[in-house]
Amino acid sequence: MTVRPHPAWWRLPRETLVAYLLGTVITISTFVFDLLMPLGVAAAVPYSILVLLSLRSPGLGLAWFAAVWASVLTVVGMFLSPPGGEPWTVLVNRLLALFVIWMTAALCTVQKKRAAAIERDRAAFVHTEKMASVGEVAAGIAHELGNPLAALQGRVEMLQMKLATDPLRKEDLTRNASIIDDLAKRMTHIIHGMRSLSRDASQDPVEETPIVGVIREAVAFTSSRLQRFAIEMRLGPLDEALRVPCREVQIGQVLVNLIGNSVDAVRVLPERWIRLDLAEIDGFVEIAVTDSGAGIREDLREKLMEPFFTTKGVGKGTGLGLSISRTIAEVHGGTLRLDPRCPNTRFVLALPSSAAD
Ligand code: ADP
Repeated sequence: MTVRPHPAWWRLPRETLVAYLLGTVITISTFVFDLLMPLGVAAAVPYSILVLLSLRSPGLGLAWFAAVWASVLTVVGMFLSPPGGEPWTVLVNRLLALFVIWMTAALCTVQKKRAAAIERDRAAFVHTEKMASVGEVAAGIAHELGNPLAALQGRVEMLQMKLATDPLRKEDLTRNASIIDDLAKRMTHIIHGMRSLSRDASQDPVEETPIVGVIREAVAFTSSRLQRFAIEMRLGPLDEALRVPCREVQIGQVLVNLIGNSVDAVRVLPERWIRLDLAEIDGFVEIAVTDSGAGIREDLREKLMEPFFTTKGVGKGTGLGLSISRTIAEVHGGTLRLDPRCPNTRFVLALPSSAAD
């Protein structure tokens, strides 16, 4: 797993910077207030808020620094402006304040570490899921590479035989060289598709992308599975001019996942087809993936996109495909939704079109 360096403070998200500013204001106000009107144990509350706000930083260092800083100010405040009352009550109050500040820091540390561990597990799980589906697709790709490879070998053998018997003619050589070149290009294209569609593209730059190319790539990527289960792929009219600002590989991954789900659903049906439609509606490019299934049961519709919801058997589905796809759509400013009005099963991916900017 790659460990990302902490970002410099000026590159932190705006909410984090606002939290730091708020923390500083709270600290200074609490200190001044404490000098004018000693707060006693009540000082723990704003100082603990300071510790909580410091948790917005990437690491835990700032929270612990805030706890030390708040403790020092609590004690210093007591000496600069001695509060009235019995010395032992003052001391007990201040000790209680310190206790609350440090409890907050300790509990937050536990909480943040637990959240980091959950995130690590989730990332590992997503990786496993991705590798599982890559493994499945790789079997199909190997099958798909088999045909051009066999054709290529056949051509080379034929050329060798000709070389052994006839004198070699230039036209023959040119024609065979062109066929071999086409076959090699087809294989390169398949391998390129697999490489790009199976990698982590979350850090790719967002680029203006003709969406038709992404659709064709996703269809090519899944074609071996479609063939294997004799599923007809129907493509609606594809407007070559439609462009979307996106991370191309991620959108390809969403489409591959939607098509893959449709394959799983229709492969056992007597009528097997998947249709892809493309349209531009109200500044959004909509890609609809419809299959010959009869829709999703009403009681399952709400749960479909929840992480880990799957109806597939153990080792077959992890229930992450749709939830990851929806996140990708949302990160692009779009949506992924099930169309409940369609008599078949239909998912619609909507992304802001370039013209909407
Ligand atoms: P997974 O494919 O690993 O189960 P997903 O999040 O991709 O995870 O899908 C969740 C569930 O949604 C699937 O288990 C399946 O029950 C349902 N589902 C998704 N797409 C379709 C579809 N086209 N037809 C029927 N059910 C589907």
